[in-house]
Amino acid sequence: MIDSAWLRGEWLRIAILLAAALLFGLLTGLWGYAGFGALAIWLTVHGREFVRFARWAVHPLSRPDNRTDAWQVPTARLYRAIRGSRSRSARLIAELRSLTALAEALPDAAVVVRTSGEIEAYNVAAQALLGLTTRDRGNNLVSLLRHPAVTALLSSRGGSDLVELVLPRYPSRNLEMRRIEIDSRRYLVLVRDITQLNRLLSMRQDFVANVSHELRTPLTVILGYLEAMEDPQLDADERRALVDRMRAPANRMKALVDDLLLLTRLESSPTPALDDLAPIDVGALITDIVTDAKQLSGGRHKFNLDIDRTLLIRGLRSELYSAFANLITNAVRYSPDGGAIDITWQPGDGGTAHFSVRDHGVGIAAEHISRITERFYRVDLASSRVRGGTGLGLAITKHVLKRHDSTLEVESRLGSGSRFSCNFPARLTITRSEHKELA
Ligand code: ADP
Repeated sequence: MIDSAWLRGEWLRIAILLAAALLFGLLTGLWGYAGFGALAIWLTVHGREFVRFARWAVHPLSRPDNRTDAWQVPTARLYRAIRGSRSRSARLIAELRSLTALAEALPDAAVVVRTSGEIEAYNVAAQALLGLTTRDRGNNLVSLLRHPAVTALLSSRGGSDLVELVLPRYPSRNLEMRRIEIDSRRYLVLVRDITQLNRLLSMRQDFVANVSHELRTPLTVILGYLEAMEDPQLDADERRALVDRMRAPANRMKALVDDLLLLTRLESSPTPALDDLAPIDVGALITDIVTDAKQLSGGRHKFNLDIDRTLLIRGLRSELYSAFANLITNAVRYSPDGGAIDITWQPGDGGTAHFSVRDHGVGIAAEHISRITERFYRVDLASSRVRGGTGLGLAITKHVLKRHDSTLEVESRLGSGSRFSCNFPARLTITRSEHKELA
């Protein structure tokens, strides 16, 4: 119910005016002047109030300055209503802005489409993933993307709400498209780039297949020898010979498992911080590795060492041992008898340090060089196995170097040998005298 108390003041004012006019009329007999005077006063008051109202109406967010109740009460109410709706719409705009920001921040494409297929709205990721442009708003998503999976996804309400597809316009991109019903007239279509995920999945499958295959080969050999041992006719010497033959495949399996465990540890442990890296006497480390490599070589190779013994490096000794040992043993394995192996450890420009292994062996054809650090990638599988390789050595070396913020460089020519260089940044190098000062 409208509260009309504020009108009472106005009626009172009219009554006083009429009473004054009546009194004036009675006293003077000038009824015309009395009536006109009362009307003029009333109109002047309301005229001024109207002007105040009109001025306020231009800026309705400022406080109205009407004075009489008849004007002041309704304008104050109007003012409060305008302020209220203004703050409600400000709140709505803020909510809309944060929703828009949310949609724009999504890494996945989000498109709102009508059930008829027309595009209502989409986010920035939709432009990148689906190639939508501002002109496409209102167009049909199905005819824009022209893919049977999209047609099926948007045409069937009951069918599958998830499809995987490759759009003709982006052939190298695997997409996953999901349909979510917003209401009876609209869908939200979410699109995710799953190229990387698919690659990781297939890498994992390849990895498991490779490991199984690598383990099965020596295992089959061992099983063969075990079967042969069941022969009751065998004498003690023959049995011993069979046991000896089992040693090589068993060692191969052990080497493979050791490398797998090391690689897994390297991949799963966090990159060490500079403070976790202790100064390592690389000269002594290389000497230790070369002593082992000479055993493997059996005197068939000549080792030339050019080592700066004053140059140390901050690192993890066991990891660097594996990384360098893989390069040196590869040089032995892939070099013919009599081949020289040159090993250097020297400072480079700007305080950097470089470890390199140069052999004069079989070399690697250019097309293989970019792939040899992949797990289980071998240029020649049979020859790698015969030479005792696991196919994981260079993957381990690359990983160790990555954890030391360093890089592996490979130069090679088929038939004339290879050079593998490990390049360490200046922040990891330290001279022996600096080390002594710190100690
Ligand atoms: P593997 O255990 O088979 O040696 P690696 O990861 O150490 O595995 O090396 C991968 C492949 O790179 C090897 O199979 C071989 O084909 C090639 N390779 C590595 N080092 C050399 C080298 N010094 N000379 C020629 N080929 C090499």
